[in-house]
Amino acid sequence: MKIAIYPGSFDPITNGHLDIIERATTIFDKVFVAIAQNTAKDPLFTVEERLRLIKKSTNKNKNVEAEHFTGLLVEYAVSKKAHAIIRGLRAVSDFEYEFQMALMNRNLREDVETVFLMPNEKYTYLNSSIIKEIARHGGDVSNFVPEVVNNHLRQKFENNNF
Ligand code: ADP
Repeated sequence: MKIAIYPGSFDPITNGHLDIIERATTIFDKVFVAIAQNTAKDPLFTVEERLRLIKKSTNKNKNVEAEHFTGLLVEYAVSKKAHAIIRGLRAVSDFEYEFQMALMNRNLREDVETVFLMPNEKYTYLNSSIIKEIARHGGDVSNFVPEVVNNHLRQKFENNNF
């Protein structure tokens, strides 16, 4: 059984993330979408909300599971018996950071490989931050995120008056 971890902030999950998840499940038997606590980011959604949104957006695919982890990614990967860490590469601008992370993770655990997947080109300009920015100003993001995420974004900004 080939297992992969797809780590990220997923604040919130977008159609770009879903594209990568689908590609990953054609290669791996099981993909754990894993919410990492990124100390450099100030999330809009709580971990529980993000987890629920990932689960609702991927519930048709039985080979996908969503989890939250703390601590080192490579240690989490080993604990899940994962062979690979999946990351999405959108453009050259992603490369430097991803390259550094992949080599550092390899340094920490030689047996966990990082695999890069490229999304459909229509998602290459998409990230969670831009989605939040558009939604905050009342823009329509329904083409870029699953319906459940779209609804949550609306609720969040209506209730909180950001
Ligand atoms: P992180 O904070 O770890 O970068 P993100 O949730 O922003 O977390 O992204 C998780 C992973 O998904 C990263 O590898 C990122 O490059 C990738 N990713 C994000 N948006 C897209 C997209 N639109 N298409 C393909 N990959 C994406």
